[in-house]
This record gives sequence, C-alpha cells and structure tokens, in this order.
Amino acid sequence: MRIVIIGGSFGGLTTAYELRKRLGRRQCEIILISKERRFVFIPSLPWVAMGEKSLEQISFDLEKPLKRREIRFAHAAVNRVDPQARKVITDGGDYSYDYLVIATGHRSANEAVAGLGPFDGPGHSLMSPPEAEEARKALAVFFEKPGPMVIGCAPGASCIGPAYEFAFEIDYLLRKRKIRHKVPIVMITPEPFLGHFGVGGVGRARQFLEGELEERDIRYVTSAAVSRITGSSVELAGGESFESVFSLVIPPLAGAKGVADSPGLTNPKGFIPVDEHYRHRDFPSIYAVGVAVAFPPVDETPVPVNFPKTGHMTEQMAAMAAHNICADTSGGEKLARELRVECILDMGGSAAHMKADPVRPPRNIAVMSEGRRWLWAKKIFERYYLWNAARGKSPVGGLGW
Ligand SMILES: Cc1cc2nc3c(=O)[nH]c(=O)nc-3n(C[C@H](O)[C@H](O)[C@H](O)COP(=O)(O)OP(=O)(O)OC[C@H]3O[C@@H](n4cnc5c(N)ncnc54)[C@H](O)[C@@H]3O)c2cc1C
Repeated sequence: MRIVIIGGSFGGLTTAYELRKRLGRRQCEIILISKERRFVFIPSLPWVAMGEKSLEQISFDLEKPLKRREIRFAHAAVNRVDPQARKVITDGGDYSYDYLVIATGHRSANEAVAGLGPFDGPGHSLMSPPEAEEARKALAVFFEKPGPMVIGCAPGASCIGPAYEFAFEIDYLLRKRKIRHKVPIVMITPEPFLGHFGVGGVGRARQFLEGELEERDIRYVTSAAVSRITGSSVELAGGESFESVFSLVIPPLAGAKGVADSPGLTNPKGFIPVDEHYRHRDFPSIYAVGVAVAFPPVDETPVPVNFPKTGHMTEQMAAMAAHNICADTSGGEKLARELRVECILDMGGSAAHMKADPVRPPRNIAVMSEGRRWLWAKKIFERYYLWNAARGKSPVGGLGW
C-alpha cells in the first residue's frame, strides 16, 4: 500500500509520523511531498517580524527526520491531483496512491482587497516566512522614521490571532525604543467585537482585549471592512480612512494552488470538503487536514469572519486522519472527535492563554488567563515542538497537543 501526503508542515508531518507509528515499512510506503524543503514553526513568525528570531532558528530540513522514520521525501510542487486515476501530478513527476492526505494549507487571497501585500501591494502580512521577513525589513526602515500604523485583518480573514500579537508586540517594542509617542496605532478588525476570533469569542476575551488595548493606547475599530491599502493610508468600505505608513493587514485565505486547481476536489474557495472523519466527501481514498479543510463560519457577522484552523487543531485533525486511514485498511473504529483549541497570545512582556473545548460554541470549557508564565510556556513549547519534530517524533499527545 502507498500513502501519499502533500504538505510538510503541521498537518503533513504529523500525519506522516502518526501513520508510521501505526504502519510498518513492510505494510506501507509513505511519501511526503512538499514544495518547501524546510518545516517552519509558523506560530513564531511574529517573532521573526520583530527581529527576535531568525527563520533558521524556527525551522529544520525535512529530509533527515523523514528518512529516520522511513518516510520518502519528495521536494516538489503539486500541480494537480487526479482523484479518478488516484494520481498526484508534480513538477518532479507523478505519484500514484492508495490513500492521499492533503495538508497544503492556504493561499493568501490578496486579490480580495486592493493593496494587500507585501508582494502584491504596500500592505504587510505574516502568513508565510517570506512575508514575515519583509515585515522585519520594513520595520527596520520604519523605526528610523516612525509614523502612524494600522494593524488588523481584512474581511473574511480567519487567522485573526497574529494581528493581535503583532499589535501587542510592536507596542512593546516601540515603548522599549522610546518612540511609542510617535506612533499612533489603530487596530481594525472585521470581528463584531474584539476577541471573537472567528469562533464567537472565548470566555472573557472580549473584555480582556478591550481593556488591554485601551491601556496601551491602541485605538480599535470592530466590524471594519478594509477596502484599500495605500502607501500612506488604510481605507474602510464606509469611507473612513486612517493614516498609516506601516500597515499590516492579514488577508482572507483560499485553498493552495495545485489543489484548488484540481477539478472536483475543492469548494469554490479551494478548500476541501470532508466528513467527520476528515475523509473527502466524494473521494473515499482522499483525506484532508489543517488549513486545507473547508469549515463553515460559526456565526453570521456584519462583516464576514471565517473559522480559524490553528496549528493545535491541525495536529488533532492529522492524528484523527492517520487513525482513520488505519481503521479503513485494518479495521477498527474510526475517530470523529470534536476539535478543541488551546492558544497562547504573546502580548509583549506577557501573554494570554486561551482554551476552548469544543472550539464551536456552546462549550464545556472557555477560559482565558494572563501572565508572564504563559510567555515562557509559548517559548518553551516552540523549542519542545521543534526538538521533537526534527527528530522524527510526533509531538501529538505532549503538552495537551
Ligand atoms: C503568523 C501566524 C501565527 C500563528 N500562531 C498560531 C498559534 O500560536 N497557535 C496555533 O495553534 N496556530 C497558529 N497559527 C496557525 C498555524 O500556523 C496553522 O494552523 C498551521 O500552519 C496549519 O498547518 P497546515 O499543515 O495545515 O498548513 P501550512 O502550515 O500552511 O503548510 C502547508 C504545507 O503544504 C505545502 N504545500 C502547499 N502547496 C503545495 C503544493 N502545491 N505542492 C507541494 N506542497 C505544497 C507547503 O510547502 C507547506 O509545507 C498561526 C498562523 C500564522 C500565519
């Protein structure tokens, strides 16, 4: 049997490790295809933008740990999946499969708002390593000539947390440099209230974030629909405009190229429709996990906010998909657990921990707490995760992941 996995990040790598734990080399050939050679710990990208960490420090080469687990690595870009022929077409050849797991993440849909960047317009973003690097370089210039700054998310965004992290971290850094008084900061968000996060809020996150932003003199606008970003302003659909010489606006997401281009595989946005077992609704030999999966929003909001797919949730999906593929092939009960989420938000000098179980309300647990200990926990977790993953060990199960 041959299982092909597309994607070398949280979803793809964890699925590969979890499958290998359950299926020996004689039972199954596992091939992981990724267009990037390195695994990057994406949640640390805001630290890269702040100049606190380098990309080298938060990444590792995929080949060695995969080899250690007897998983074949194919460094290639997938151009198309042919589900009828059970074949993955890449720029480095074709791969047939018995099972396919798609963990290709997202494409930033920068076409949604004029000026979203950094490669399509003057705005900045944090959705990928090159974008974090661009933000770091632009901030170095900004520090020399500080001015107004807008931070936020575009309508339809789903990855909201990093915008808050960036706002708190930049506030902290500007204060340390004693230039905060030269930088009026406005936070704009499509959320109907602060801390909605695309999940309808978590515990007292709304009150907490309102207080924390107010204490830091960060103005905020909710239900905001950014319509244009220029080199000197951010404009909203209602006509309001904010002066901004550095704008960081998180885009809405779409399915990754190569997968989104495969006829019949995805919804119109390029995300993959799956059942409760993370199996494709039309193709039983295809599973999908992580950001690549199609999930509906939790509620209707005046300005659209989409459902987040965090690394923590991606790991749970990957573990379930691996389990369910084994149940398909060897028998046994399939898993269909509700997703839960646990997240630590860096607030510059401190951090907030949020836990929601299940992610979609109503919930059994929805708690939030703040303290410097959470900042240490976030830093330690990154090291713990990278140390394990770079040695071919799946961190699933450890520290609640
Ligand atoms: C700035 C930021 C901060 C975040 N902070 C947190 C946090 O604190 N906690 C948390 O839980 N989550 C966080 N997240 C979310 C988390 O990073 C994502 O949920 C996670 O990266 C999703 O993993 P994935 O494997 O689904 O996709 P991705 O990480 O996007 O990886 C996709 C993989 O597919 C590969 N790929 C894509 N297209 C192709 C193709 N055509 N051919 C071959 N390979 C392809 C890519 O090279 C990559 O290896 C954050 C996200 C961002 C952007």
